[in-house]
Amino acid sequence: MPQLHERSNTATSFTGTSSMGDTEPSSNKNNPENPDPNGPGIASYPARSAVLGGGLSVQRALPLWQRRLVGAWCFADHFGPLNFRDRKIMDVAPHPHMGLQTVSWLFEGEVLHKDSLGFEALARPGGLNLMTAGRAIAHSEETPERNSGKLHGLQLWLALPEGERHRQPSFDHYPELPVLEPGGGRVHLFMGELAGQRSPARAFSPIVGAEIALGSNASMNLPLNPAWEHALFIIDGLVLLDGQPLSPGALHYLGTGRSVIEMRTTIPSRAALIGGPPFGEPVLIWWNFVARSADEIQMAREDWEQHRRFGEVRAYKGERLKAPSFSARPLASG
Ligand code: MN
Repeated sequence: MPQLHERSNTATSFTGTSSMGDTEPSSNKNNPENPDPNGPGIASYPARSAVLGGGLSVQRALPLWQRRLVGAWCFADHFGPLNFRDRKIMDVAPHPHMGLQTVSWLFEGEVLHKDSLGFEALARPGGLNLMTAGRAIAHSEETPERNSGKLHGLQLWLALPEGERHRQPSFDHYPELPVLEPGGGRVHLFMGELAGQRSPARAFSPIVGAEIALGSNASMNLPLNPAWEHALFIIDGLVLLDGQPLSPGALHYLGTGRSVIEMRTTIPSRAALIGGPPFGEPVLIWWNFVARSADEIQMAREDWEQHRRFGEVRAYKGERLKAPSFSARPLASG
């Protein structure tokens, strides 16, 4: 049997941490007027290293064995910051996707997307490339010939809910997204809703995805939906949340039940906030496919290998990626 990333619907055990040590996290739980000032807790899980097709090293913050999903977010890669000259630092040859949206968000540099629908779009800082795979799409992602010699960014995936995951594929580029300035820094809202603002990017379930940039000795409060689960990862710097220092290289899972996050810094820092209602559907991730059953994955793999369903990325110069063997251990290439 192939091993698959599987999320059970049973509650994940979640240990609250309190910066004040002697405060019982549960002591105020029955009094909504006076919620626990330390919030529902922070569980930090180290990201793992992975290498993309083409050789680019990334830090993978989702999925982790301790945590498969945060809302509909099911995959999170952080790459860079990198400086390069005279080489194509990112070159991920054509590969298929199914059952998900890819959300590409850059802090520095450029990535050129090409897909089997014929779209080509350059991702740049401040703009969003959003690919809705639905039933099937193929794409490549590469450093364009004309580039700044820098690369730093995120690629995230959203699992599509049951009613949307077989939809026709589409691609959208959003050159500008809402910028919030709640004090202490700036927030780019690339997906979903936050603090009364809404991203124009098309999502298929309630969601939030935002970049939070903070100055030195800054503090910022952001309202959250307490029915949603959230996570932060720190891109650079150090963020204090509930008095606890959060560093890069980890997924900081915040659980549900928070109506606000209060972040503080001593040095300039940047973080990504992701969240949404707990997804509530079992999800299987194998390679670049998000599915519900091993049969679906096996069929998708076979269709890619036989040049069916996913289409060809005609604008890409070079060979496409071969699917790994289905009996291999779980992996996801991005
Ligand atoms: Mn991809």
